[in-house]
Amino acid sequence: MRSEAAPQPGGLERFASPGKGRGLRALRRYAVGELLFDCPAYTAVLAVGERGSHCDGCFARKEGLSKCGRCKQAFYCNVECQKEDWPMHKLECSAMCAFGQNWNPSETVRLTARILAKQKTHPEKTQSEELLAVKEFESHLDKLDNEKRELIQNDIAALHHFYSKHMEFPDNAALVVLFAQVNCNGFTIEDEELSHLGSAIFPDVALMNHSCCPNVIVTYKGTLAEVRAVREIEPGEEVFTSYIDLLYPTEDRNERLKDSYFFSCDCRECTTKEKDEEKLKIRKLNEPPSAEAVRDMIRYARNVIEGFRRAKHYKSPSELLEICELSLDKMGAVFEDSNVYMLHMMYQAMGVCLYMQDWEGALRYGQKIIRPYSQHYPAYSLNVASMWLKLGRLHMALENRPAGVKALKRAIAIMEVAHGKDHPYISEIKKELEDH
Ligand SMILES: [Zn+2]
Ligand SMILES: [Zn+2]
Ligand SMILES: [Zn+2]
Repeated sequence: MRSEAAPQPGGLERFASPGKGRGLRALRRYAVGELLFDCPAYTAVLAVGERGSHCDGCFARKEGLSKCGRCKQAFYCNVECQKEDWPMHKLECSAMCAFGQNWNPSETVRLTARILAKQKTHPEKTQSEELLAVKEFESHLDKLDNEKRELIQNDIAALHHFYSKHMEFPDNAALVVLFAQVNCNGFTIEDEELSHLGSAIFPDVALMNHSCCPNVIVTYKGTLAEVRAVREIEPGEEVFTSYIDLLYPTEDRNERLKDSYFFSCDCRECTTKEKDEEKLKIRKLNEPPSAEAVRDMIRYARNVIEGFRRAKHYKSPSELLEICELSLDKMGAVFEDSNVYMLHMMYQAMGVCLYMQDWEGALRYGQKIIRPYSQHYPAYSLNVASMWLKLGRLHMALENRPAGVKALKRAIAIMEVAHGKDHPYISEIKKELEDH
């Protein structure tokens, strides 16, 4: 049931955006918080780690989901969700039993298998492809380097290994194109605290180009993507979303865009670089650090971030926390606490504390993060909303109700624009406010 008026498809059009290829353009005015359009997932796959807490079919989060009787690894709201998901789940159900512990295809492989199955069972245009079809996805095939081609070949091998029993595959060249398309056009679905829930294909949403000062935000209601204005949009204006985390300075953002999406951004933020100085804030000392010392520290910070990303897969929580603390100590000699590299490591430390259920530790980091976060990110940001939300829930858990109420209300204020006033996440937070 949608209480919001259905989005008017007449208000938007696909067009050729100068220098950007295809894009989406507004034909009328949209106010902040207004829903531009929504898009059901063409196909979606729940992360393995979320099984049991979310429905494998509709992604609803609830208790008491029922198990698939065959594999006992997929969970559903009810028989309807199970039935609807069966054409996709059957690709994995018996294979998971057969492979047991050795069943470990990546989420990209799982999603791609579902695309292939969907293309077979549903060759005609779907509801998710009103403006852009999956077949039309950009692959940037000519720009793939050997490393990327090798990763795709590994994915193709895994696809054959884990899915061949139930599927026939197109030839290798076609699979390379498909994986390249998924890599550039796939979406990850996150919950209100930005925890990863799964991956999905939303063709119409993929039509939007990127900007570091986006005028819309994409949120999810189960497996439905919703696109809302976070700035006023005038008729004729292009609709931009952000493909990346906007915390980082211009150079880092463009490195990321180039590596994952094969373009560099020419938005206002990237041209003026006006937030970079604040984002790379240097400590005010009697003797300011030399330009070289700053450059060295930035290089160190980037290495630590990359090293930590890898270490997460094999180090213990206390080892990870130590990496955070050591790097914060070292960077703190040159960087201000509001520097984004400091914030990145504090955020990681907070994540480890949450994992270890060290609520006081998590709260301490979160309280240092939230103010600079609000400065660095755009006015309506899911990163800022989720940080307020985590802080609010931590305060509530630690019986500091006044601080908890304040933080949760800050989260709601952003989410009412980004998620829409009637989103289930907002109802849940409001309930938390009443219950305490
Ligand atoms: Zn369901
Ligand atoms: Zn099953
Ligand atoms: Zn930009």
